Amino acid sequence: MDFARHLTSLRGQFVQLAVWFAFLLIVFAPLERIFGRRKQRIFRRFFLADLVYYFLNGIVPRLLMILPLTVLSAGLHRLTPLAFYSCMAALPLWFRLVLALLANEIGGYWGHRWSHEIPFLWRFHAVHHSAEELDWLITAKAHPVDIFFTHFCATVPLYIFGLAQPFATRVDSVPMAVAILSTYWAYFVHAYVSWRFGALERLVATPAFHHWHHTNDGPEVLNKNFSAMFPWVDHCFGTLYLPEAWPGKYGSDAAVAPDLAGQLLDPLTPAASRIEPPALNNSAIR
Ligand SMILES: [Zn+2]
Ligand SMILES: [Zn+2]
Repeated sequence: MDFARHLTSLRGQFVQLAVWFAFLLIVFAPLERIFGRRKQRIFRRFFLADLVYYFLNGIVPRLLMILPLTVLSAGLHRLTPLAFYSCMAALPLWFRLVLALLANEIGGYWGHRWSHEIPFLWRFHAVHHSAEELDWLITAKAHPVDIFFTHFCATVPLYIFGLAQPFATRVDSVPMAVAILSTYWAYFVHAYVSWRFGALERLVATPAFHHWHHTNDGPEVLNKNFSAMFPWVDHCFGTLYLPEAWPGKYGSDAAVAPDLAGQLLDPLTPAASRIEPPALNNSAIR
């Protein structure tokens, strides 16, 4: 009985993801065609593998989050006075949303940065950086453990500051809005559209900002632009790099398997310890 219910719920998630996929394709395929920096096919190399990643990452990371978030929230409820949560809940919705976006961004920034700096995490994150062509669908090309870790880091501050209520009986609108906004902003910043927004680019992440995160143009420009939505967070932590030009080439020198099965399984094996993180260069280039 329980199995049948889980199967129905899984089917529901697949349908939901398929609808979102159709929406993303309808939005981004024409945008990239019209405003693309160069000609790139929609059904390019590895499109099918990235489609598998899309569905996999729509389901697996959420499952991986259940246990650690339950433990975290149970711990926080023991340690934090109830009055604090009531106080946070009494704040205006827009203010809670702004706080949640900031908390999510700073947690996500460090989760992403650690994924570059800590060899054990880089072996998973290297899959995302193995893409040598960028488009909107590359957002989904990532190891589920990598997505889980960064999302977990982004979510922890929301729980600590009472901006997400894990045991809420009704829909928790603030974390849901943050999740939807940050997820779909990620598709935008991966798209290979050539729009530039001048000074605004230092406030809100654009494709150029995130494309520089994917560059493989030399060690001095690696490990920059870790933020998901707000480049000024990178500025605060000394990792912003946003010149007028676009990167010459994308990808990384990490030894990542070319096939989907290898990319998913290799990071789980001891042999993955030979996947070195990109050379760290902490000097802030501006
Ligand atoms: Zn990265
Ligand atoms: Zn990316």
